[in-house]
Amino acid sequence: MTRIINIANRLPLTIGEEIVESSGGVVSALEGVRRDYDMIWVGWPGKVTADRKDQQDIENLLARKYNCLPVFLNKDEITGYYYGFSNSTLWPLLHYRSYYIRYRQDWWRQYRRVNQKFTDVILKIAKEDDVIWVHDYQLMLVPQMLKQSGRNLKVGFFLHTPFPSYEVFRCHPQRKELLAGVLGADLIGFQTFGYMRHFRSSTMRLLGAECDSMVVRCGDRKCHMGVFPIGANVQSFQAEFKTSRFRKKLADFKKIYKRKKVILSVERLDYSKGIIRKLDVIDRFLTKWHDKNNIVFIFISIPSRDEVPEYAQLKANVESMIGRLNGKHATVENTPIHFIYKSVDFTELCALYRLADVAMVTPLMDGMNLVAKEFVACRPDFTGALILSEFTGAANELFQAFIVNPYDIDTVAESLELAINAQQDDIKRRMRGMYERVAQFDAKYWAGKFINELGKLEIEDTSIQKEADVRNELVKRVKKSRKMVFFLDYDGTLCDLQNDPDKAGPDEQVKQLLEALSCKKNIDTFLISGRRGSELEKWFGKYNVTLIAEHGFSYHSPQSNRWLKSVRNVDLSWKKSVRKIFEQYVGTTQGSFIEEKTSSIVWHYRMADPEFGLLNAQQLMAMLQDMLSNLPVEVRHGKKIIEVSSMQANKGLALMRFAGGKSKYDFILCAGDDQTDESMFKLADRRLFKIKIGQGQSNAEFRIDSPKEFVNILLGAIRNVR
Ligand code: UDP
Repeated sequence: MTRIINIANRLPLTIGEEIVESSGGVVSALEGVRRDYDMIWVGWPGKVTADRKDQQDIENLLARKYNCLPVFLNKDEITGYYYGFSNSTLWPLLHYRSYYIRYRQDWWRQYRRVNQKFTDVILKIAKEDDVIWVHDYQLMLVPQMLKQSGRNLKVGFFLHTPFPSYEVFRCHPQRKELLAGVLGADLIGFQTFGYMRHFRSSTMRLLGAECDSMVVRCGDRKCHMGVFPIGANVQSFQAEFKTSRFRKKLADFKKIYKRKKVILSVERLDYSKGIIRKLDVIDRFLTKWHDKNNIVFIFISIPSRDEVPEYAQLKANVESMIGRLNGKHATVENTPIHFIYKSVDFTELCALYRLADVAMVTPLMDGMNLVAKEFVACRPDFTGALILSEFTGAANELFQAFIVNPYDIDTVAESLELAINAQQDDIKRRMRGMYERVAQFDAKYWAGKFINELGKLEIEDTSIQKEADVRNELVKRVKKSRKMVFFLDYDGTLCDLQNDPDKAGPDEQVKQLLEALSCKKNIDTFLISGRRGSELEKWFGKYNVTLIAEHGFSYHSPQSNRWLKSVRNVDLSWKKSVRKIFEQYVGTTQGSFIEEKTSSIVWHYRMADPEFGLLNAQQLMAMLQDMLSNLPVEVRHGKKIIEVSSMQANKGLALMRFAGGKSKYDFILCAGDDQTDESMFKLADRRLFKIKIGQGQSNAEFRIDSPKEFVNILLGAIRNVR
């Protein structure tokens, strides 16, 4: 049975005088799939104790009775990591409340420290077949920390909150570290497509990641993304309805609120929930409402993060505003707003959900909002109206609700009136659609789907293993060979790709390699590149290696010391018309530019907006393929470039020309990182040894993660060659 290690800030229980189990959304979602997996929880147990013996006792008890593993935090960590970085920096950022963001460098240090603490606890128990599921914004660095351990672990991350637009996220001082932290996961789950889109865009812009619609590639990481909207724990509500305590509670409430319209609000007291604006709506509504005795607003306000000053201030504001509104709209017989500042027990909550005529869910921003789904789950008879903010994740699914913009006070007040006065047919039609969806895609469905997707993913072997294989094999083949030839691409193969190609000159290690190769009698070396001849000569003219420029179009050997064409009578008449089209794209894509070579012409967009650049590149590709289909050219979409080049020259043909047929070589090494190198990798010759540098599909048989590692391996392999 697969074991799931579930990591969240809090364990599903609190240790105080006694142990109290909690049943939040995630806990009960995972309860639902518990039978199918062996599950263990890692998290903070809610008690601060520095006493080692006390900690050990708690650990033993939790392991024995609850399958939980505690991560103990001290007071400073709770202040810096939890109240500070998580809830005063990240929470407002993720919810677009920029003016609430406070930031301190020492909070960031604590956040990293605590994330490392969680990671260390996980690593103590994790085994290779486990599925590790990390939850939420408090633990964004844990996925990367787990991968950095070098262990072959399958890691998922689910973000319960929204992920904001790049323009907001980019403001954060640690924006890159946070993204890189999450990218340690093999699967990243979001509540909605919108949040996933923002995350994807941020990784492209801030980390230069390359993205397909559901995959982010960044450095040596390949992460899958997916949309997994969390559901309500429908079964627990259904079970509660069957109890006599529920029936009694509902009957009591019905008696109390006889002949009154009940409008219900349930939420943590949090500025993201839009409580002040909701009170503005109520004020507006009550000012017009004809019968002040027949209406009551029940406000369940769950205490939350009251150690954060913004929350304490909000509580004071809400209380004073409710006092004012009750004074203004109360009659001798009725007080319109019942404000309850505490959690209610589950039976009461179910009865309130069942009792209310209208539920008012109007956050300014909310990852999902389970209250909306729970209200629907409690209306199997399809009664009750839901007013739902379009800024909740739930609004994507519960579109039959009265959807409102919470910033538009007048219209929300009108919607409230509409909802109260709606015809039964209309209410029924709306609620039926929502109920069916909520009942089918419940919490259990959500958890099962995420775990399943994560379980199915093939995790690539660790690069250490791959490199060890290449190194051994290469050393063996080089040792056996009497006369060998190397075809080495330069950019992305011997040196990292740079934003400015002029800055990508050889570093000390590459110079050392070229010097070593220049002296080897039994090795002939060709540097084979897409660059112009003059550029190659500037950096590499002094070495005893042959330079091949423009993907094989011309070459320069140390013996002849001049550039010669590899192919004659090349048709280049197409270049003029291609240039005209490229010029149009330069005009509309800020940051893009044209590079012209003898046998090809290139449109570069690496300095353009990554998403706009890609969009225009895709459009341009389609246009060129159509336009140039009958000409002797190759159109290629490479790394942030589109290149149109003569078909009469490519690296594969060049390799054949110098080393193919019955050449003197008994071993041919070719190495490259992009699509132009595939023409070498596609060649069939048993003397060939093909190495792909970096990620992506390839016909090569070996892979090395980075130029640095490749140069290192090559230096080692040729050490003893004469
Ligand atoms: N809830 C609670 N105590 C209460 C009333 C409600 O714990 O007194 C639960 C409610 O059932 C829901 C959760 O709190 O599952 C609120 O989740 P939601 O997604 O609406 O908002 P969040 O608090 O996660 O921002």
